[in-house]
Amino acid sequence: MISRHPSPEWLVEYSSGSLSTAQSIATTTHIKFCSTCETMVDALAHLGGTLLQESESVPVSMRLLEHVMTSIETDFAPAEPKSELPAKVVDGIAAALPQYVRNFLPAGDLRWSFLSPSLRLATIGVGEAEFELALHRIKAGGQAPEHDHCGQEITVVLTGCFSDEEGIYQPGDFMVRDAGDIHKPIAAQNEECICLSVLAAPIKLTGFKRLLNPWLKFSPG
Ligand SMILES: [Zn+2]
Repeated sequence: MISRHPSPEWLVEYSSGSLSTAQSIATTTHIKFCSTCETMVDALAHLGGTLLQESESVPVSMRLLEHVMTSIETDFAPAEPKSELPAKVVDGIAAALPQYVRNFLPAGDLRWSFLSPSLRLATIGVGEAEFELALHRIKAGGQAPEHDHCGQEITVVLTGCFSDEEGIYQPGDFMVRDAGDIHKPIAAQNEECICLSVLAAPIKLTGFKRLLNPWLKFSPG
């Protein structure tokens, strides 16, 4: 049973396209588990469409229009997610993951880093520098080291469950932790826990590129 959802403000940002690609992928992953948030996002999309229809158009120069269209077509078109399972994925992990997440896995082995005896992490490139998408695996009964966050971290549980000082987290649960938020996750005794994470990276996108983040392609459905 899902008990942790993105905030309404977060879903508004998601619907309006203000989130980064990695943040949008994590949010869509939650929505694949959660009909409540899916309904809310559908309603927001409907509202956005209505507002757009009712808003007055503003004339722009052909030059600006051409510049915007060229930029969208060249720099910001996201790669189409792969529809097939990767040919080879280490530990057979792909089979355990939701189809939507599998689409973003690279072909071939994931490169796992050992963060502790119980915790491994593999990053998934999504072509942006501001946030990093990753998979975390905590061994059954394993304990991740207590850690602080340098920046925002989003976690969506994919399989298994874990707990920390604040409660138990199950598949579909969506958590946002901010810098300075210290916690110590422990996986359930009977099953490995795999989570999708978005970690704030030190490099930030600025200016025009930020306005045209390509997350719209990742809308749920
Ligand atoms: Zn939800």
